[in-house]
Amino acid sequence: MPTTSTAVAAKPIADTGEAIASLLLSNNLITDKQLLHARRVRAKLAQTKSLLNTMLELEFFSQSQLNEVLKNAKLSIRLGDLLVELGDISSQELEMAIRIQREVANNQKKLGEILVEHRMIREQRLIDVLANQLGYLHVEPEFNSIDKALLDIAYLPVCEQYGFMPVRRSDNVVVVACTDPNNRDIRLRAQGLLNSNVELAICSQFSLQTALHKFRSSSGPRAIKSNNEDSLAMKLVDETLQAAIGMKASDIHFEPHSTKMRIRFRTDSMLWQFKEISNELAVSLIARLKILSKANIAERRRHQDGKLEYTDPNSGQIIDVRCSFYISVHGEKACLRLLNRRTELLNIDSVGMSPAVLERFKYEALEAPSGVVMITGPTGSGKTTTLYSCVDYLNNDDTSIITAEEPVEYVIDGVTQCSLNPKIDMTFAETLRHMVRQDPDVIVLGEIRDHESAEAAIQSALTGHKVLTTFHTEDTIGGLLRLMNMNIETFLISSTVVSVLAQRLLKKVCPYCSTVHRPTPLEMQRTGLRSEDLRMANFLVGKGCETCKFTGYFGRISVFELLVLDEKVKEAILNRKASYDIRRISIECSGLITLLEDGLEKASRGLTTIAEVLRMLPRNEKPRSLAEIKRVSRSPDV
Ligand SMILES: [Zn+2]
Repeated sequence: MPTTSTAVAAKPIADTGEAIASLLLSNNLITDKQLLHARRVRAKLAQTKSLLNTMLELEFFSQSQLNEVLKNAKLSIRLGDLLVELGDISSQELEMAIRIQREVANNQKKLGEILVEHRMIREQRLIDVLANQLGYLHVEPEFNSIDKALLDIAYLPVCEQYGFMPVRRSDNVVVVACTDPNNRDIRLRAQGLLNSNVELAICSQFSLQTALHKFRSSSGPRAIKSNNEDSLAMKLVDETLQAAIGMKASDIHFEPHSTKMRIRFRTDSMLWQFKEISNELAVSLIARLKILSKANIAERRRHQDGKLEYTDPNSGQIIDVRCSFYISVHGEKACLRLLNRRTELLNIDSVGMSPAVLERFKYEALEAPSGVVMITGPTGSGKTTTLYSCVDYLNNDDTSIITAEEPVEYVIDGVTQCSLNPKIDMTFAETLRHMVRQDPDVIVLGEIRDHESAEAAIQSALTGHKVLTTFHTEDTIGGLLRLMNMNIETFLISSTVVSVLAQRLLKKVCPYCSTVHRPTPLEMQRTGLRSEDLRMANFLVGKGCETCKFTGYFGRISVFELLVLDEKVKEAILNRKASYDIRRISIECSGLITLLEDGLEKASRGLTTIAEVLRMLPRNEKPRSLAEIKRVSRSPDV
């Protein structure tokens, strides 16, 4: 009665002996004849014996041949059933152990543990079966040969509570010894603590306890103190990250000073102190951050980068955190950039463009069938947020969008996003070659940095794609000039670039403590405001209150300068006109509202202050009158 291996898998567990017999048949370890013989012998025996045990005694195959077959077959045989088949325990003993497990131990103990505790099997034999027949890794932890770096990470109280000991790291997996390698809690706990994938290995109770004991005494009184600090540091990291997420901070600074460490948050572009901690705790804290971000914990003399993924227990949000470790005279400074995956995705209608600019940007730039749309500004000008709003606007069922970013900052459903990784040679050029073969309608290039990426953007537009990208320049005309300086032909620029949007973020007047502000003569002169402009303006400043932490500002607003390349502007570029001329033509003939004009218009509505306008915006030429700006931007009156 030969059976196929599929039939084996479907058999009930009660037939473990038959299942193994079929496995042996299909591996040619026994013949049909031998199996029949074994069954006959077994039936004649005075004492009941398992089929497998009978065959072993008849010496049809060796123990090691059996081990090999069982290990490779990966049958889902339960440990207890296997032990009965192997003749290590009787079926009555198995029944008894299962009853103890259920009724006495409340299912809190594993079967193997109960069998050993009640002396039904020796521990060493149990380990043999688990390792040799069920294929678990078998490692006895030798404390002295354990990787020191692992001991730095392993937190003794957790190892003791869950009963495990890290042994070695190979590739990205840490081998962790325990007495119950099938235990999910141990696996999860070890993975969390070691911040790594984990392979659980079986070891004896004795060697585990010995290793843990040596770990405890190797630490001595100094380490017991440092263990306290470690657990404090763990808590502090959690508490700090949660507070930062709750306050929508963009960055967290951990700054060592001569006597203490200062922790500061950046919210709405302003830094403020969250708390101070002792230098002793600071050392543990930095170590904890390094572990979490997979940086090298032993390296304390070089700058390092890392990243981690943090799940906020309060909201369930997943936050990507980029970590930078910088060596300062007082020790390591850590700076964490919080990259929120979803919530900061702004609708293009609410990024803060004036009605006229928004309409032109949507219909003449984003909805153009092909061509390059550039968003420019310095670091921290909000251009990435606007870029994502554009992607969000174009993201629908009949558009294919693909990105190459450095790195992906927000994950958007429905968009194929890729983080460039120069470390493994996944460069811009390489990625772009593959991108165009993905049949995209819209290509998003995180940033134009050099001639190569500029050329790539232009080439993609020439082949009929819509290209969105950012560029690190002062203003819109500056973006065009930089392209020319990167040796991109003027006819290529004028035939592919659809529009350039320049952006800045300005601090917003705190609505809780704002008061009327009359511009000083110096402010009037420096902004180019005229006295008749004051009639249609309501300038404000914040006096400072609890809510704005006495800064007078709360939140931020964006100001924009949109250049659409119409015929006149294209002609000016083709003729390589000076930037002054291109700017004048854009303002006079193409409806350009400058950053300064948009800023003044927003200040006139009390959204930001004249001081912010002066501090943040380029002043290339005198602005038009407020009345004129309001007319062309169709902004609401004050
Ligand atoms: Zn205030």
